[in-house]
Amino acid sequence: MSAGFALYRALQLPSQCAVCRSWPSQRLCQHCRATFAAAKTRCPRCALVLTGGSAEPRCPQCLHSALPLAACWAAVDYAYPWSELLARYKFAQETGLGGLLVDLLLHTPGVGPALADLQASDWLLPLPLSPQRLAERGYNQAWELCRLLHRRSRCRAGLSAGLLLRLRHTKAQSELPRDVRLTNVRGAFLVDPLSARQLQARQVMLVDDVMTTGATLAAAATALLEAGARSVSALVIARTPP
Ligand SMILES: [Zn+2]
Ligand SMILES: [Zn+2]
Repeated sequence: MSAGFALYRALQLPSQCAVCRSWPSQRLCQHCRATFAAAKTRCPRCALVLTGGSAEPRCPQCLHSALPLAACWAAVDYAYPWSELLARYKFAQETGLGGLLVDLLLHTPGVGPALADLQASDWLLPLPLSPQRLAERGYNQAWELCRLLHRRSRCRAGLSAGLLLRLRHTKAQSELPRDVRLTNVRGAFLVDPLSARQLQARQVMLVDDVMTTGATLAAAATALLEAGARSVSALVIARTPP
């Protein structure tokens, strides 16, 4: 039985751990949580893992030029087993995995207080898909995560899938070298002009499944800040390690 198929089978049974198939268990058993989802010290601006007991509070990249994010949290690294679970969630539409993924985020140090800090006038927004990609895929996984997160955390902030718009269907970021990624997404986002007033001096928390270089989140944050948001932070399930 292939690892992928074993994982698929495991996901059909809610009493099994989604990773190691032990049972009876929660969706993620204690052993797998400790092995694959242990909290790591991450850069507060881009969520990269900080290594070697670094005295610097930020990663080298952010010391040089930080993303336009006030803060950023990631639950796990984009690696086994999360890369496979996220692919199934995103492309095989196994939406039942959303609860497990949001649970990882809510277990991440700092995420609960950050959500509790949002006021009713602030916003929790998904990274939008372009209309073309939304039509192809049928749903936006970031919006599904956003709604679940909102419900489970009892966050007071407003939810909207239409305030921030994605204009262009850009090339997949993973296919491009780092320096090209920034220009690839520049100008890809727009705040709905009719909603811009609702952003003035508000805090925004963006939600996405995977963060690679941060170029896409940075482009979205720039559009929100230019439209009047006071600050933009981000929550992602997984962060690509360097
Ligand atoms: Zn397990
Ligand atoms: Zn950083």
